[in-house]
Amino acid sequence: MAIVQAVETGPGVRRRLRVANPATREPLGEFEVQTRDDAVAAVEAARKAQPAWAGLGVDGRARILRRAVRSLVAHQDAFVDTIVAETGKPAIEARAAEIATSCDALEFYAKRARRILADRRVPLHLLKGKRLRIAYRPLGVVGIITPWNFPFILSLNPVAQALVAGNAVILKPSEATPASGRLVGELFAEAGLPEDVLQVLCGDGETGAALVDAGVDKISFTGSVATGRRVAEACGRSLIPCTLELGGKDPMIVCADADLERAAAGAVWSAFANAGQVCISTERVYVVDEVYDAFVNKVVENAAALRQGTGGEIDVGSLAWEPQLDVVERHVRDALAKGARVLVGGRRNPDYAGLFWEPTVLVDVDHTMDVMREETFGPVLPIMRVRDDEEALQLANATRYGLNSSVWSRDRHRGLELARRLEAGAAVVNDCMIAYGATEAPFGGVKDSGIGQVNGEAGLRGFCHTQSILVDRFGRRSEPGWYPYTARKARRLERAVRWIWGTSIGRWLS
Ligand code: NAD
Repeated sequence: MAIVQAVETGPGVRRRLRVANPATREPLGEFEVQTRDDAVAAVEAARKAQPAWAGLGVDGRARILRRAVRSLVAHQDAFVDTIVAETGKPAIEARAAEIATSCDALEFYAKRARRILADRRVPLHLLKGKRLRIAYRPLGVVGIITPWNFPFILSLNPVAQALVAGNAVILKPSEATPASGRLVGELFAEAGLPEDVLQVLCGDGETGAALVDAGVDKISFTGSVATGRRVAEACGRSLIPCTLELGGKDPMIVCADADLERAAAGAVWSAFANAGQVCISTERVYVVDEVYDAFVNKVVENAAALRQGTGGEIDVGSLAWEPQLDVVERHVRDALAKGARVLVGGRRNPDYAGLFWEPTVLVDVDHTMDVMREETFGPVLPIMRVRDDEEALQLANATRYGLNSSVWSRDRHRGLELARRLEAGAAVVNDCMIAYGATEAPFGGVKDSGIGQVNGEAGLRGFCHTQSILVDRFGRRSEPGWYPYTARKARRLERAVRWIWGTSIGRWLS
């Protein structure tokens, strides 16, 4: 059966979807698609619940996050089972990239939200008679729309940040992973979150679109570029802010002096982990001519040793979403038709009924091929030979995406210099796929990879409205710029302009 399938329902009956395990195609259950009315009702309920939640203060809200960490630690096995059943990923990946990262996000913000969200006093350089205080106020009701590749952490992390910032939240997980999304709601309910402060709406794109239009104060969206564009348009119509965490085509640059052992192991892991369905996967590699052959040999050795399967000690699981398997197949076929060669894999895994694509290494690739230009989001690693670092850099930047990237060189200064020139939201030197897990690092893309950031101080404050509060210090009867406008005031202003910006001492003081 298809992984997500419409269930036949009669006229006037709500739509239902049936979900299956992508690794085995065994049915997992059905759920009702929530409607526009449900989205509007959820926003109304959230709006009623939000003031009391915000009123708890940051310490009261952080307490709930801490309780959620404890519940998550206690229930980790059951959570891993649900995530694995809905995504087909190895259990160790679910535990590392969904559970451990979620525990860290909850604890990180529980500990630091008070400092990050505290009012800041900023001395004014000019208006010495005023005091400025910058305050971070909750936005109100935040809609969070998430994909299927990391259905738990990509839901939990923005939810935790939005909640601790004092917002009520409505989460719309992917239609392929509704149970993993619901776990986020259950976790916070068990932690004692007041009713309606977090609601989970299940459904497909229609439900997501309804949520965007339902009167929320912000949308935090993670998903594809095409959907992100639609979400941004809808947010634009309602004049509400959105952050868009979208797709990537992350390049890896291997310099002549790279530690090839580490670089090859890193390339294989970052291309095939989560079956390549990571927004910050390595999607293409540029290797300097001198070390190309040695690097490719090591990659082939590592990739050929990977164990693919449905359970036990496996390295690579299935894909999670049927249309993605079609994209992977199309990209590989297109590359082969244009002259690429397969060194490892290159086909659906015939041993399994589920969505298995064998970890695939391609060489003799170039930028006429989709696999070097468009997001593949599957277990495919194309490697291209380049003359030098400069050619690698130029090709790495020749893309409409700009999410993550990596540079491999024993010379850290050179690595850093190349990293600075990569057009990407994150650049990593001698490592890969750590940009999201480094919780302090603001995470987000440039170009078509998105707008805005999650994580770190910038991410958390992004769930707030930044308010400038200015307080007068001296209480004089009037100010120099107020009425009446007189010739005397005009002369004084002219002298002030001359002194402040026309003298070096004035400029230095201002
Ligand atoms: P998708 O865009 O198809 O769906 C994402 C979510 O949007 C789902 O919940 C879906 O139901 C909902 N949706 C669909 N149409 C909608 C609409 N018109 N309005 C509102 N919501 C709508 O993406 P996907 O296939 O679930 O996820 C894969 C994509 O996500 C890849 O491109 C990947 O790179 C990207 N991604 C990005 C990040 C990041 O942080 N930058 C992280 C993970 C995944």
